[in-house]
Amino acid sequence: MSYFSTRCKTCTSKYKKEIHELVLEKGWSVERVEEWLKDKDPISDTALGDHFRKHVYPYQKFMKEADKYTKEYFQKRLNEDVSILERIRTHLEVLETTLGTVLENKQNFFKPSMIRELRGLVTDIVKCMGEYEKIKKEYYPEPEIDKEDIFKDFIEACEDIPVEYINKIAEKLKNKGY
Ligand SMILES: [Zn+2]
Repeated sequence: MSYFSTRCKTCTSKYKKEIHELVLEKGWSVERVEEWLKDKDPISDTALGDHFRKHVYPYQKFMKEADKYTKEYFQKRLNEDVSILERIRTHLEVLETTLGTVLENKQNFFKPSMIRELRGLVTDIVKCMGEYEKIKKEYYPEPEIDKEDIFKDFIEACEDIPVEYINKIAEKLKNKGY
């Protein structure tokens, strides 16, 4: 994937996919690609270089940063999630031990202090479960508009806009959480 310009020979070339593979995966120089294209769909090394500089690398950089941002966000969420799960587990263990003690000493069963303690634990567990549910909803939100689609529209709309402006817009979008 890349930015796209109808004026760019590489963007519109039917060998675009191959050109990207040769440069990005096999590490070919644009001069070598120019040679390879000579009898197929000639594009100058300068034009090829411009294509990668304007229509590929900025997009890759942006996607990499967006990816890093997403990973950091989910890592933060995961840490919170794990800490709540640990709290729930600790509470359940305490509850189990307390219940064991209660059942062993039947005369304690109706002691107000014991009932208060149990009630407190249960309330806390319910509260933790509520927090957990809230975080789970963030992990698996309701399906929403595909950001990839928005991004495609964005890239098409950016055609002919100088790349430095596109980078500025991309930066702003990233700060908004896209
Ligand atoms: Zn291009």
